[in-house]
Amino acid sequence: MRFHIITIFPNIFDSYLNESLIKRAKKTNLIEVAIHNLRDFTNNKHGKVDDKPFGGGPGMVIQIEPVYKAVQFVKSKVKGKRSKVRTILFSTRGKKLEAKSARRLAKYNELILICGRYEGVDERVAEQLADEEISIGDYVLSGGELPALVLMETVSRFLPGFLGKQKSLEEIKGSYPVYSRPPEFSPKNLGREKWKVPKILLSGNHKKIEEWRKAHSSWKF
Ligand code: SAH
Repeated sequence: MRFHIITIFPNIFDSYLNESLIKRAKKTNLIEVAIHNLRDFTNNKHGKVDDKPFGGGPGMVIQIEPVYKAVQFVKSKVKGKRSKVRTILFSTRGKKLEAKSARRLAKYNELILICGRYEGVDERVAEQLADEEISIGDYVLSGGELPALVLMETVSRFLPGFLGKQKSLEEIKGSYPVYSRPPEFSPKNLGREKWKVPKILLSGNHKKIEEWRKAHSSWKF
């Protein structure tokens, strides 16, 4: 799986992508992340990628031309490789990202992720270039970079091998609460109060534990 990120802030990604499971997945070539600086796809000296919105209003708009060129560039690199490519624009108006969509996207070979900024991206990107628009939630962020990281991680978790041998909780049977040692924690200054682990989890009764976990799972898929 190769992720192509189109952004005006390429440095945002460095630290997160170089830690933990994502770092390992890159090392083992399970995933590859190619970051494309949108400013490299302009003709002007200053790498300007934005302009005022038609019709007036506050803020600036990411223009169609550099985005078009960046997407064409990426597509020209992957063309002929019989790759399954999907182009995604991050947008507050997009379809909400869910585990279901992440699992679906994990089937592609190349995901092109377009990160908006400012007041947003010229709507022709959504109309003509993107296969789909995705939102990560009903709130407004300053750009599509965090959504890109969120999408990459959640999609990667569906790639066989990403989590190593051990499967994650969600994949086994939904996300249930977990506890670890000590079975009784005595916070200082709270007298005799003890914060206890549910007895059933200490019982060794696997059937009962299973039932308890099922009853406390957040969701299943
Ligand atoms: N004025 C726009 C917000 C632009 S925010 C509006 O109200 O819709 C700038 C960019 O950040 C957007 O183009 C999008 O790419 C990204 N973005 C912000 N919030 C997002 C969210 N919740 N999900 C996905 N992308 C988001």
